[in-house]
Amino acid sequence: MTAAIAATPVDTLGRHMRDLRISVTDRCNFRCPYCMPAEVYGEHYTFLPKSQILTFEEITRLAGIFVELGVRKLRLTGGEPLLRADLPSLVSMLAGLPVDDLALTTNAHLLGRHAETLAQAGLQRVTVSLDSLDDEVFRTMNGRGFGVDATLEGMAAAERAGLSPIKLNCVVVRGVNDHTIVDLARRFRGTGHTVRFIEYMDVGNLNQWKVDEVVTADEIVERIRAEFPLEPLPPNYPGEVANRFRYRDGGGEIGVIASVSKPFCGACTRARLSTDGHLLTCLFAFGGTDLRTPMREGATDAELRDLIGGVWQDRRDRYSEARAGLISEDGHGPEVEKVEMFQIGG
Ligand code: SAM
Ligand code: SF4
Ligand code: SF4
Repeated sequence: MTAAIAATPVDTLGRHMRDLRISVTDRCNFRCPYCMPAEVYGEHYTFLPKSQILTFEEITRLAGIFVELGVRKLRLTGGEPLLRADLPSLVSMLAGLPVDDLALTTNAHLLGRHAETLAQAGLQRVTVSLDSLDDEVFRTMNGRGFGVDATLEGMAAAERAGLSPIKLNCVVVRGVNDHTIVDLARRFRGTGHTVRFIEYMDVGNLNQWKVDEVVTADEIVERIRAEFPLEPLPPNYPGEVANRFRYRDGGGEIGVIASVSKPFCGACTRARLSTDGHLLTCLFAFGGTDLRTPMREGATDAELRDLIGGVWQDRRDRYSEARAGLISEDGHGPEVEKVEMFQIGG
C-alpha cells in the first residue's frame, strides 16, 4: 500500500519535486542527429494526433497541481515548442501560477517572430540551443541544413523583448562540433549570456550513442581555459545541474553539464510531462504514468494530486549514476528501452 501523500512529496532517495518540464509538442523543425535522427523521423513519420495532445486548459490544470506538490519552476519545451500554435496563450495561463520561474527551451529558429508576444504574455526567460556558430557544423547538427543566422536573430529578438540574459545550450559531440566550442565561448564572453556545454547523452534509443563521442566536462573546461583563464564558481542554488566557471578577467561565465562523467541524480528534482500527458520522473524513463486518461475520465484535482504525489514518492530513478557500470565493451550505452528526448523535452 502506498503511504499517504505528503503535501510536498519526497522520493525514495530524499529528493523533492521542484521543476516541471512541459513538452507542448512532439514535432520539430530540426532533426538533430543526437535527438531526432532524420533517417527515422522522415517526411512520413506520424506524430501524435491532436486528440492525444494535452490542451492548454489540461496543461494548466496539471501544472497547478504540480505547483501544489512543490514545483517552483516551469519550463516549456518539446519537440520545438514554438511549433505549438498560439503558445503565448498557454504562457499567459501559466503565468497566473505562483512559481519563481517560467521559461522556454527552444532552437530559436522561429524566435524572431515570437519573442515579443511571449514576453508580453509573461514568459520570464529563454534557453536557446546553439551547437555551433560555424554554419557548416550547425547545418549538420540540425539535420535540416538551416544556417545559424535565424537562431542568432531569434536571440536578438529575445534580448529586445527583455528575455535576457539568455542561457545557451550546446551539446558537444566529439568529431562533430567539439572543434568549435572555444569560438562559441569567445562569441558570448562579455555579453551577459551564459553558454552551457552539455555532455552528449545516450537519450532515447536511436542516436547510436557511444561513450567515446562524449567530450567530458573537464575536457571542455580545459580547452576553454587554455584560451581564457577560468575559475570555478559555487552553484546559484542547491541542485543546479550546471557546474559554473567565471572568466578571471570578468568576461562573465560558462557552465558545463556533466551528465555522463559526473552524474547528479542525487540532486535531481525534475518531473516531466510529455506531450500526450504522461508523467515521467527521469529523462531515461520509459512509458511513464498516464495522467490524461484519468483527467479526461473526470478525476478530481485531489485524485490527480494523489496519483502524481504517489508516483513521486515511489520514485527511485538514478539512471545516469547507474550508466557508468553498464556501458558495453564497444562503448554503447545500456540496452534498455527509453522515452525519446523530443517527447519529453530534455
Ligand atoms: N527543441 C528545443 C531545443 O532544442 O532547444 C527543445 C527540446 S530539446 C529536446 C531540449 C534540449 O535537449 C536541447 O538543448 C538539446 O540540445 C538537448 N538534447 C537533445 N538531445 C540530447 C542528447 N542526446 N544529449 C544531450 N542533450 C541533448
Ligand atoms: Fe528538435 Fe530540439 Fe531535438 Fe534538435 S534537440 S531535434 S531542435 S527537439
Ligand atoms: Fe534525473 Fe534521471 Fe537524469 Fe538522474 S538520469 S539526473 S534521475 S533525469
